[in-house]
Amino acid sequence: MEKVILIKYGELSTKKDNINFFLNKLKENLLHSLRNLEVKIDYDLGRMFIHTKDMAKVLERVKNVFGIHEINICYMIDSVDFEVVSKQVLELIKDKEFTTFKVESKRSNKKLAKTSVELSRDLGAYILKNKENLKVDVNKPEVLINVEYRLNNTLVYFEKIKGLGGYPVGTLGKGLLMLSGGIDSPVAGYMTIKRGVKIEAIYFEAPPHTSLEAKNKVIALARKLVKYNGEINLHVVNFTEIQEEIYKNIPHEYLITIMRRMMYRISAIIAKRRNAKILINGESIGQVASQTLTSMSAINEVVKMPVIRPLACFDKLDIIEIAKQIDTYETSILPYEDCCTIFVPKHPVINPRKEKCLEYEQLIPYEELIYKAVREHEIIKIEEEQDEFKDLL
Ligand code: ATP
Ligand code: MG
Repeated sequence: MEKVILIKYGELSTKKDNINFFLNKLKENLLHSLRNLEVKIDYDLGRMFIHTKDMAKVLERVKNVFGIHEINICYMIDSVDFEVVSKQVLELIKDKEFTTFKVESKRSNKKLAKTSVELSRDLGAYILKNKENLKVDVNKPEVLINVEYRLNNTLVYFEKIKGLGGYPVGTLGKGLLMLSGGIDSPVAGYMTIKRGVKIEAIYFEAPPHTSLEAKNKVIALARKLVKYNGEINLHVVNFTEIQEEIYKNIPHEYLITIMRRMMYRISAIIAKRRNAKILINGESIGQVASQTLTSMSAINEVVKMPVIRPLACFDKLDIIEIAKQIDTYETSILPYEDCCTIFVPKHPVINPRKEKCLEYEQLIPYEELIYKAVREHEIIKIEEEQDEFKDLL
């Protein structure tokens, strides 16, 4: 009997046509996340198994991998014989202290003589006969004994650990996350990664109006997302010249609208070059003047690629809740100025008109400035915190 980690991938099993692609990716992502540990991974019949001696460390990391519905510490018995399995189960629960239990059986092996209901009933009876002071409770058992009879072996497990769900990262292509130092955009990134999209990130800085600390904060946020995404390319774009031109030449009520149109244009160019199919940002309907529907529409019209806004319909408090769960909140609330907050006008337009945007944009040589910003932008590779060294400390 071997103790293994059993991975169930729920939602994936509905993707019949390209299930192998999804499973290979899941395996690859698991191997990456467990890369400095000794593990072997295999899968068959709708189940994936991690063989390892480092149970605790593996469990800790597997909890952060998308595409997993449930994780179980599981005992693999090399037999499908009812008598053999029953003895082994008894051995497993021999020293456990509990008074009520329930057996739940599954059989993917349809050649077995007993149905799954009979298998549960008979194993229950066997346990009652061989261990004292026990009762069956089908509604609220203290111990749930799960038994899965397969072709050549049987799986037994007790506790269920909830996985993160979603799809394996990379199975749905690539997106470019507009990452500011705020609370929203890292959460938007997390939610998109969860849907199987591998991300790169883009950050607009405006030195000397924005500080090095502000940039380091964005790097720190990107690093938090590496845990879910794997390595992240962070594109840092110098936005100073564009911002100053806008500030000098364009009516101030349109500052934010035009600034954001420029950010969208630059993001779309870089996304295309990196083969990213979507832009992702942390906009949420109604949150600020630039996030009214008219504003979003005036800003969105400068790009053709889809812009995904995972937080569009979220309340701020719910966003904060997720930010705390994924450990980005404390970094996000560090008080460094963002390039947008510095140039915020007193009275930003709530309902910007598209014709006005086009008219005002003619006042600056924006295409030239955009291409310069793209050409000169810096790419920083953000890698995982070196937890292999952390273990040694
Ligand atoms: P956040 O809380 O994520 O900082 P915000 O509340 O500051 O967002 P806005 O400034 O209106 O809201 O920005 C909306 C979205 O635009 C952000 O969530 C982010 O995706 C993107 N964005 C804003 N500023 C920048 C920036 N300097 N670099 C990259 N993306 C940005
Ligand atoms: Mg916001």
